[in-house]
Amino acid sequence: MDRIYIKRLEFFAKHGVFPEENVLGQKFIISAVLHTDIRKAGKTDDLTESIHYGEVSHMMKTYLEEHTFALLERAVETLAEKMLLEIPGLEKVELELEKPWAPIGLSLETVSVAIERSWHRVYIALGSNMGERESYLQMAVDKIRQKEGCQVERVSSFIRTAPYGGVEQDDFLNGCMQIRTLSTPRELLEILQGIEREAGRERKVHWGPRTLDLDIIFYDQEVVDEEDLQIPHIEMQKRDFVLLPLREIAPYLRHPVTGKTVGEMAEELTQHYVM
Ligand code: ATP
Ligand code: CA
Ligand code: CA
Repeated sequence: MDRIYIKRLEFFAKHGVFPEENVLGQKFIISAVLHTDIRKAGKTDDLTESIHYGEVSHMMKTYLEEHTFALLERAVETLAEKMLLEIPGLEKVELELEKPWAPIGLSLETVSVAIERSWHRVYIALGSNMGERESYLQMAVDKIRQKEGCQVERVSSFIRTAPYGGVEQDDFLNGCMQIRTLSTPRELLEILQGIEREAGRERKVHWGPRTLDLDIIFYDQEVVDEEDLQIPHIEMQKRDFVLLPLREIAPYLRHPVTGKTVGEMAEELTQHYVM
């Protein structure tokens, strides 16, 4: 992706863990790399097609002067989030915050903290087979939409499917959604589990009846294989109730490991049924 650089913008602020730093203040330097598509601006010479680096420079300086944080880490984390939420077209931002006069009793050129933060595209499977199933799925979509740092981009239709895993229970209603998020996979899992709890989900029988089940299917093209979190979802290619709604909203999306598209996986699975 294209980049816009803002290099070593100086300002005066009061970040620090020592009380005197929060009173006296000192010099800081911020640098940013803005990742955005500037092809259109390049073709049209129209600033509104790009990101205004002047405005962004003022925004960063004002924010870091008007807030006081103990840690540089916190300063850049909150600034990156604000920028990604407020600057249209900004997909990813790299920030480096320097504190050249850090009071550590040694002579050094500078100390700094650098981070890289971006939007992520995620697909979530929704399921319910207890009570008002459709309202539970709709509630999940609405709750995610209301989270700061989550944007719902597409929602599939909700389909009825027979239960899976051999436990005697009611039919399921299933769907899939595409979102953009600033959360990490683990943070997102916690958000989803919080919403499941709000829907009154109790974890009794594995694969048993539940008011709401929210699973992360894909997170960008990332592969996570930890004890309590696997992405892409480990069973997705075996489940028509995931693949069919997902195919509605993302037929050409590829599995990062097998390289198969959602459409291909759905096709393979339904052919398998006929045989
Ligand atoms: P399945 O995961 O086979 O669909 P389930 O959804 O019924 O079964 P849950 O009881 O909802 O299972 O979740 C069990 C655990 O699965 C969760 O506590 C979570 O840590 C873990 N898990 C692993 N990978 C994922 C993922 N991609 N999305 C959601 N949960 C996951
Ligand atoms: Ca599940
Ligand atoms: Ca689950």
